Amino acid sequence: MPLTNSRAQPAPSPADTTVCVIGAGIVGVNCALALVKEGFRVTVVDRAPPGEGCSFGNAGILAEWSFVPIFGPDVLKSVPKYLLDPTGPLTIRWRHLPHILPWLLRMLGFASVAHQRRAAEAMHHLTMGCSEAYEALAAEAGAPELVRRERILQVYDSEADFKKAEADLAYRIRYGVKVEALDRKALSDLEPALGPDFRWAHGLLAGGRTTNPGRLTKVLAEAFVKRGGTLKRDEVRGLGRLADGGFRIATAGGYFEADRIVLAAGAFSHKLAAMLGERIPLGTERGYHAILADPGVQVNHAIGWKARAFYASPMEMGLRLAGTVELAGLDAAPDYARARVMADLVPRLLPGVKTEIETQWMGFRPTLPDSLPVLGPSAVTPGLFHAFGHQHVGLTCGPATGRIIARLMKGETPNLDLSPFRSDRF
Ligand SMILES: Cc1cc2nc3c(=O)[nH]c(=O)nc-3n(C[C@H](O)[C@H](O)[C@H](O)COP(=O)(O)OP(=O)(O)OC[C@H]3O[C@@H](n4cnc5c(N)ncnc54)[C@H](O)[C@@H]3O)c2cc1C
Repeated sequence: MPLTNSRAQPAPSPADTTVCVIGAGIVGVNCALALVKEGFRVTVVDRAPPGEGCSFGNAGILAEWSFVPIFGPDVLKSVPKYLLDPTGPLTIRWRHLPHILPWLLRMLGFASVAHQRRAAEAMHHLTMGCSEAYEALAAEAGAPELVRRERILQVYDSEADFKKAEADLAYRIRYGVKVEALDRKALSDLEPALGPDFRWAHGLLAGGRTTNPGRLTKVLAEAFVKRGGTLKRDEVRGLGRLADGGFRIATAGGYFEADRIVLAAGAFSHKLAAMLGERIPLGTERGYHAILADPGVQVNHAIGWKARAFYASPMEMGLRLAGTVELAGLDAAPDYARARVMADLVPRLLPGVKTEIETQWMGFRPTLPDSLPVLGPSAVTPGLFHAFGHQHVGLTCGPATGRIIARLMKGETPNLDLSPFRSDRF
């Protein structure tokens, strides 16, 4: 395909710059939308329709407060207990351990409070303000019903868990998170169906939720196309440099060229980065959901059961139970017993709930050993920009990631320190 602009120019205008975003998950679509708004000529390529990867089935929480890595000394202490409990929030498929061990060992090196604090300092820039951003994006795209800026409940069945969470949340309040402590009476008023074991709770007042994360991604992709962006359904199989500094993108269906690439292929991004000579230790924390299409109880809020690491999230398609972590790499088949575990536990949270699962799903959270994404220009390939590895909060971090990529692409300096997100930090 002939090039229509000269990539040899030092700073071509957005209108003269073609950008290929690889990946139409919530991160790629946010990047694409932000870039097309700045006037870039953007093509998004994905082997699947938008929002069919990890962004399809998450819990839908716009978790502005979730800027502290989950993996730290507390979780590390609990790992043996978790692994001995088949209904626990973490499981390892032992057959796959040899394959994931190098990534896991690196992760252990980051299980300190000092790292959690450093990471929080970087991550809060990506999480805070996301609900307001999504409210505007969904309204612009003609689907305001998809975003609700409302209280998210985090509930506890022991006072010890509540007190531990109090201390943890106190730290987050410094970054502007608004939290209320709720006693049993206040909690019952908000959520009458909640089981009697849950006598303590926090209402998280910064953030909100989407009622359908997959549809939100699709709606934003449609908005991108309406603004002149191109969506291409194809699998990227090879990436190469051109003599003039651009890229050749080989796909299952042929090839095309672009001046710049944004790599936003979620848990598969390291495979594509490797094609351009960059080794990035990306792993995956697999998670599950179960949809109770007819739960038979009224649930007013998204409810997080912290000790069990899952949310009961009311959505367009029913009550979605979503969460937990399974370490088994990218190739192991889903183990839907993990979805069943959440459905079997939920009657304690919501007595009387009907636990028939209508659909179940597994997704690959993209996770780096230090629980920070890779975000910004590639350390080795000029013109390549990374936007992946947002682990448990990719939905939440989408709008800020898109804004940062658009600013970098324009040659501007974003007003945050991107060094914690560098691709060569390991
Ligand atoms: C159970 C569960 C609950 C979660 N809950 C929340 C939550 O409440 N809030 C929150 O913020 N986050 C949550 N997350 C995390 C969030 O879903 C992810 O961080 C986010 O979806 C990652 O988005 P992404 O765009 O990076 O990846 P994806 O959505 O996986 O998109 C990557 C895309 O790249 C495409 N791709 C990959 N390789 C190629 C290739 N070679 N060629 C073409 N296309 C390719 C894939 O098809 C895919 O569409 C949850 C995750 C899980 C599993």
